[in-house]
Amino acid sequence: MSFQYDLYVIGAGSGGVRASRMSAARGARVAVAESTYLGGTCVNVGCVPKKLFVYGSHFAEEFEDAAGFGWQVGERSFHWPTLRDNKTAEIERLNGIYQGLLDGAGVDTHIGQAKLLDAHTVEVAGQQYTAENILIATGSRPWVPDFDGRDQVITSNEAFYLEQFPERAVVVGGGYIAVEFAGIFAGLGAETHLVYRGPLFLRGFDEGIRQFVRDELAKKHIHLHFEENVERVSDDRTVHLTSGATIAADTVLYATGRRPNTEGLGLENAGVALNEAGAIAVDDYFQTSTPNIYAIGDVIDRFQLTPVAISEGMCIAHNLFGEGEKRKQDYDNIATAVFCQPNIGTVGLTEEEARSRYDIEVYESTFRPMKHTLSGRDERTLMKLIVRREDDVVVGLHMAGPDAGEIVQGMAVAMKAGATKADFDATVGIHPTAAEEFVTMREPVR
Ligand code: FAD
Ligand code: NDP
Repeated sequence: MSFQYDLYVIGAGSGGVRASRMSAARGARVAVAESTYLGGTCVNVGCVPKKLFVYGSHFAEEFEDAAGFGWQVGERSFHWPTLRDNKTAEIERLNGIYQGLLDGAGVDTHIGQAKLLDAHTVEVAGQQYTAENILIATGSRPWVPDFDGRDQVITSNEAFYLEQFPERAVVVGGGYIAVEFAGIFAGLGAETHLVYRGPLFLRGFDEGIRQFVRDELAKKHIHLHFEENVERVSDDRTVHLTSGATIAADTVLYATGRRPNTEGLGLENAGVALNEAGAIAVDDYFQTSTPNIYAIGDVIDRFQLTPVAISEGMCIAHNLFGEGEKRKQDYDNIATAVFCQPNIGTVGLTEEEARSRYDIEVYESTFRPMKHTLSGRDERTLMKLIVRREDDVVVGLHMAGPDAGEIVQGMAVAMKAGATKADFDATVGIHPTAAEEFVTMREPVR
């Protein structure tokens, strides 16, 4: 049977665009369907606008810090529509770049909601297309639990387009999005509360880092409410907690996780199965229960991170249209950053995970960043190295401090290469930087 395309990709986000372009570059006939926005979550309502808002929110501190360096900063005020609209203009520019990349690679773009009719046929905007292989890269969407007043709250999707910036903001959740947005709201001047159901946010991160970040956020006057749940949100957006306390708010942002986009895709028409968590079930090569249909990215719910979706997309292009042995995605030592303020950068095992598996040594350093010796700001940095005793290999590296994401990206290469503590020690530092601390820690603290 002959098909119109060698590969039909559903979803032009981080994973789908990369798989489309790289497959086309290997000579495949490729089309991609997109229902909402080119570039997906990351470009439109994720990494990119979030990072722009983080930059914007940091200026308040920069202006204050300037005084210790002799700068007098005059009257200052924040104009939300400028930040919001400049951000939107930048995203529209990126949407155009994505269209150009797809066009340049010879990938056909079909705008509309795609649905599988059978294992080889996709319908988009009333048109049917056939393909030998289909890739589902439909991403995920915010999930909000049910409670009285659910219609009064927003998710990160809406936070990027608020008509008015809130004077009082409540963020519910304790993951990446919650801590990042708490920092954004607070930095831009809102009285900010973070409500989390457990004893300490950022579950799964290194315990020492979590405690350190808790203390730093509290110093920035973010009101932290742990072991608290929301009972209801009233029409005036007062948040009623199960403890009986109430918080008056203008904006209530729920960041309680995301769910894979599988609904309305016609998976049942093509025999594509879900796993127990409701994500598309795939094997090591991203093959679903239907052999010619593959899935990658947030919709398979392994790591909800853009570089992971991109890397999985590269595997698809290689395995379907490249030469040589088939590739599996390597999920070991994936570095990640949380863009709270200060940032967290992390790669490898937490101290707790490492201790449960190996005999370890922990190296740790906390210090006041040099900039704050003159600014006077009471903000500190924490760096940790976790070393496996039997072979001296660094199995975990964590940082909370300015530019942690930038610093840990470089360190992740060393970790991926299996660097030992002796390799770190043999590396000459760059002075004066915060990063040099990673190569000058000599005595274990535990
Ligand atoms: P997506 O990028 O979401 O793309 C899926 C695309 O499929 C979407 O464009 C969607 O419209 C489309 N689609 C869905 N269904 C259909 C259909 N039936 N037909 C046609 N098209 C369809 N990750 C990081 O690494 N760093 C960060 O700093 C970061 N920050 C984030 C901040 C926020 C607020 C959020 C929400 C996420 C953030 N992420 C971050 C996560 C990152 O955005 C995702 O992991 C990544 O976008 C997943 O890529 P994907 O290709 O799987 O899906
Ligand atoms: P996360 O899964 O990171 O966090 C969800 C949070 O909501 C957890 O603290 C969880 O608590 C809490 N929660 C879940 N259900 C409920 C409930 N019913 N009531 C109250 N609280 C609840 O999701 P996010 O939405 O923050 O982000 C989604 C994903 O997007 C992230 O996991 C990450 O992979 C990606 N992302 C990456 C970023 C980056 O790389 N910088 C930035 C933003 C997002 P508990 O821990 O107790 O389960």
